[in-house]
Amino acid sequence: MRKALSSVIAALVVISCAGCSNVEAEPHSKTNGKTSTDIVAWQYPNGARNAISITFDDARESQVDVGVAILDKHNVKGTFYVMPEPVQRRLAQWQAVAENGHEIGNHTQSHLCTGNFQWLRAMNKGLEQVDLTWMRDDIEKTNQFIESNLGVTPHSFAYPCGNTFVGRGAEVQSYVPLIADLFTTGRTWLDETANDANYTDFAQLTGIRIDGMTFEQIKATLDALRFTKSWIILAGHEVGQKGMYTIDSQALESLIVYLKDPANGYWLDTVDNVANYLKQHRDAPK
Ligand SMILES: [Zn+2]
Repeated sequence: MRKALSSVIAALVVISCAGCSNVEAEPHSKTNGKTSTDIVAWQYPNGARNAISITFDDARESQVDVGVAILDKHNVKGTFYVMPEPVQRRLAQWQAVAENGHEIGNHTQSHLCTGNFQWLRAMNKGLEQVDLTWMRDDIEKTNQFIESNLGVTPHSFAYPCGNTFVGRGAEVQSYVPLIADLFTTGRTWLDETANDANYTDFAQLTGIRIDGMTFEQIKATLDALRFTKSWIILAGHEVGQKGMYTIDSQALESLIVYLKDPANGYWLDTVDNVANYLKQHRDAPK
C-alpha cells in the first residue's frame, strides 16, 4: 500500500513538473512591446551553465609564491582580497599580480572579526568594540593603500571572517550598507549555498570554503551547488600542502583544468567581471 501511494505521488510530481526542466524559457512579462516568445532568456558567455570565481583571502605569502603561478600557467584570473601589511612585505610580487590582470579586492587593514577570536582579544579589539565610522576609516585607508601601491581601485570586498556587523546586542549595526556604498561587491565566508544569479545581493555574495579539500571533494561540492545559473564563489587562504587553511596546490590545478574544459559548462572569471556581467544581463530580483 505504501509503495502504491509513493508511486502515485511520484507520478503527480512528474505531471506537476511538466515543462519545468527549462525554467529559463518560461514567458517573461511584456517588455518594450515584445511578447514573451520574442524574448530570449539571458545566458552566460560561451553557453556556460554556471559562473565560478576563485578567490583568495589575506594576501598570504604562499598565494604569490605558489598560487599565482598555477593560475598564470592556465591563464586564469583570480580575485585576491588583501590587507596592506602583508602586501607591503611582498610589494613587488603583488604589483606583478595586479599588473597581470588578477583582481585585487579589499579585506580591510585591521582584519577585524568578532572578538571571540582570541588573537583579536590579545589586541584588545573586536567588531563588538567598534562603530561604523571606525570601520569606514579602516576600509578607506585600505583602498588608498591599494590604489597608491598597486595602481588599481578595488571594486570588491571580502568581510574578514565573514562577519558583517559592528557593535553589541541592541546596539549592533550592519556594515553591509557601507560595503554597498563603497564597492561593487562584498563576499562573506563559510556559506552553504551558491549565489542565485537572478536574486543574490551583490553586497553579500556567498563564499564557499575550499581550504583543506581534495579535488574530488571540491568537485562534489560544485555538483551540489550547481543549480540553474548559480554563481559559485570559492574561497581559500594558503596555497600549498593540504591543510585546514590551505588549498592543496594539486587540487587547485586539477580544479582549474576541470573548470576550463568547455564540456563542463563553467564560466570562470573574477568576482568583479561576473558581477558586472550579471548587473547588465540578469532579470530584476523578485
Ligand atoms: Zn581573512
